Order: sequence, then structure tokens, then C-alpha cells
Amino acid sequence: MKIIIIGGGASGIVAAINYKRNHSSDDVLVIEQLVSPLKKLLASGNGKCNLGNSNINYSLYNNPEFAKSIIDGYDYKKFFSSISIETKTYGDLAYPVSESAVSVKEALLNSAKNLGISIKTEEKLVDYSLKDKIEVITNKGKYLADKLYFAGGLKSSPKLGSDGSVLDILINHNYKMKNPQPGLSPLFTKEKTKLVDGIRVKAVVSLFENNKLIHKEDGEVLFKEHGLSGIVIFNTMSLISRSIEKDHVISLDLLPDFDEKYLEKYRNSHKFSEFLLAFLNPKISSYLKDRFNSEDAIFKSLKDLRFTFDKSYGFDFSQVSVGGILVSEVDENLMSKKEKNVYIIGELLDIDGPCGGYNLTWAFASAIKSTK
Ligand SMILES: Cc1cc2nc3c(=O)[nH]c(=O)nc-3n(C[C@H](O)[C@H](O)[C@H](O)COP(=O)(O)OP(=O)(O)OC[C@H]3O[C@@H](n4cnc5c(N)ncnc54)[C@H](O)[C@@H]3O)c2cc1C
Repeated sequence: MKIIIIGGGASGIVAAINYKRNHSSDDVLVIEQLVSPLKKLLASGNGKCNLGNSNINYSLYNNPEFAKSIIDGYDYKKFFSSISIETKTYGDLAYPVSESAVSVKEALLNSAKNLGISIKTEEKLVDYSLKDKIEVITNKGKYLADKLYFAGGLKSSPKLGSDGSVLDILINHNYKMKNPQPGLSPLFTKEKTKLVDGIRVKAVVSLFENNKLIHKEDGEVLFKEHGLSGIVIFNTMSLISRSIEKDHVISLDLLPDFDEKYLEKYRNSHKFSEFLLAFLNPKISSYLKDRFNSEDAIFKSLKDLRFTFDKSYGFDFSQVSVGGILVSEVDENLMSKKEKNVYIIGELLDIDGPCGGYNLTWAFASAIKSTK
């Protein structure tokens, strides 16, 4: 049998390895459009590769039940140990002991090479058609395959390879999808933030969707010249992208360690300027004075500083795409329901999770589940 995998990213390379391990006499070919595979993996986790999570909370994925059905049973420690990558955790976040994405890339490619997997680079899928076999058409030629895996990613960080081209091909083949939106990215707010550009605060972030609270998470928020960033904001942006058509307001509790009564008492026993000095970075105080025109309004904003969502920073700044091919288009092993022996894995499917190893977990687990 000849197996072709489109995309030499996280899911494509792991699918190739797992397939070949389970079917050693079959030919496995990976077609990758960039000059080298696994470019995005190299950038992951700030170059350290947060490759998994020891305590996955499935409810944080969209389509949580489907995600669970694929990931359940996948053991990142076991898989990575099998390619000579030992892992360690910081809290729940799993990294290679080397703390280097380069070592993960090398181990994956060594393993692929030792198994005899072919990887063709600088070759791009253009189309495919189903005949007796599956005809795979690239910018360089044609191949016949018995099984075809789509592992081309979606649209986030297109410089790292995922340019949406595979999604377009699948749409032409009548696959249903949810229009991808940038997730895990900074966001623009309607309110100006230039005065606090570069300031970081520990805050509790609440997300309101059409005036209803839908998420609360604490973390570090980084003010940008035109909006907000930081991991907690990245996660917030993904949730917004899941229902981008709705209205979203983000509220920051700038002083989560102090309750309102305590702050009120402090305020009443000090001059307002002293009160602000005691609790806030002076640049934030100046920002609040500029934005609000009464002491009461400034006081209220300390535990409820509101920003109206304007737009995301776009796919260039996004770590994962929200949306993709509907999970109802594939079966429990990720084979297409309408095209036999065609599989769709990784980010291409409508599954995304928050920061913390969730998205690589999905990419690797979907690769393994589909190649049993
Ligand atoms: C900066 C950054 C940091 C990240 N850090 C983390 C992290 O620490 N932990 C985590 O869990 N997740 C992280 N992610 C998310 C994670 O990397 C992705 O979810 C994951 O790589 C998706 O895997 P994939 O195989 O589906 O797609 P990709 O890794 O995007 O791979 C798709 C591959 O297909 C190729 N391709 C596309 N179209 C074609 C075509 N037409 N023909 C041939 N080849 C094609 C692309 O060139 C690419 O190599 C990060 C993402 C970014 C951008």
C-alpha cells in the first residue's frame, strides 16, 4: 500500500511514524510545501515546545466530546519516550527535558528516517481525485495512493507553512467547515491603550458575550499600543473567535487580591492620590485618570476595567485557528465519511484548545488515532 500524508507539521510527521510502525511493509510519503518540515513545532512554546499537558481538561476544547474521544488513551510520555524524548512538567505543562523544540524536531525526523519514511519538501498539494486509487496532484507531479492523510493545518502563522491551501482544496471537494478565525492571539480594543503600552499587570480577566459572563481566568495581561496581550488574553481571543459574530467585552480586575470593601476603607482613610499610589503602577493611574472623569469612576474601574473587543491581531499573530473542517465530516478514526481512505487530522479539523500544550496534544493524538 502507498500512503501519502499532506503536510510535514506536527500531526503529519507523527502520523507517518505511527502508521509505518503499525504497517511496516507499506510505503509512506510525506509531502511538505516548505523547505523543511516541522517549522511551526520549532517555534512552539517559545522554542521550548510545550508538547503536552498532564491534566487535560477536555471542556476547554471546542467540541469537547469529540476531542476526548480521540485523545483519551493517548499518552504523550509513552509516545515521546519511544522516539527518545523524555519529558518533564512545570505544573501541568509538559516539555522535553532538553527544553528544546530542536531536539523534538530532530527526534521525530530521526525516527521517520529510521523507519524509511520519505519526505518530499518544497512540494505543494494542488488537488486530488478519487479513482480506483487516490490521485494526488502537486505542483511537481502526480502520485497514486491507497490512503491519503490531510495534515496541512489551517491559517495561523502562515509563514510557518499553514496557509489555508489544504482547507480550500477540501472546500472544493464539498467538505463542510466553520470559517477559521484567529485564536490564541493579541486583540485590539475599541478603547485606547497607548498610555499603558508595555505595562504588565496580574489580573483576573472576565469575558462577557452579549452581556453574559462566559469565562473568567487569571494571569498576566500585557497592554499593547492598541489593545491587550498575554496568555490569558490569547485564551480569551480563542473564546471570542468561537462566536465572533457576538458582542464581546473584556473586564480586568486589576486588584484581585483585595476586595472592594477593603479598598473602600483604604480610600476613605487616604487622599485619593495616595490611595492610587498604594495600589497601582503610576502609569496605570495616569491612564485611568485620562480615561475616566471622576474619582468614583476610577475607583470602580480598579476591579472592573472594561474594554470593548474590536478585532483580533490576525492570523499572522495567531497560534491556532478556531474553526476548520466540521468534526461531523469524519468518523471515530478521523476517516472522511464521504471519501473512503481519506483522513483529516490536526488543526485542519474544527478543534482548538487553550495555551498549555492543548493544541499539540490534539495534533499528535489525532495523528496516532488515525493511523492505528
Ligand atoms: C508560535 C507558535 C507557538 C505555538 N506553541 C505551542 C505550544 O507550545 N504548545 C501547543 O500545544 N501548541 C502550540 N502551538 C500550536 C501548534 O503548533 C499547532 O496547533 C500544531 O502545530 C498544529 O499541527 P498541524 O500538524 O495540524 O499543523 P502545522 O503544524 O501547521 O503543519 C501543517 C504543515 O502542512 C504544510 N502544508 C500546508 N499546506 C500544504 C500544501 N498545500 N501542500 C503541502 N504541504 C502543506 C505546512 O507547510 C505545514 O508544515 C503554537 C503555534 C504557534 C504558531
